[in-house]
Amino acid sequence: MNVQTRSQAQQPAAQVESKAFVYCPICTHTVEGIVVSTGRTAKVKPGQKCSRCSAALDPAYIMRLDRAA
Ligand SMILES: [Zn+2]
Repeated sequence: MNVQTRSQAQQPAAQVESKAFVYCPICTHTVEGIVVSTGRTAKVKPGQKCSRCSAALDPAYIMRLDRAA
């Protein structure tokens, strides 16, 4: 087991914002939103609101990343 005490949350991984379709669990619709990709993980950018129900999109699921070239 290789246990490293690397407790730094601020790693110099590039954060890329991109558009994506996210699933709003409040109104059960898929809406467009901004996701932040950090390395291989992507999550919904905090502070957004659902365009349908105006709920916070923080708990939304990412359905499909729109990687525009
Ligand atoms: Zn919604």
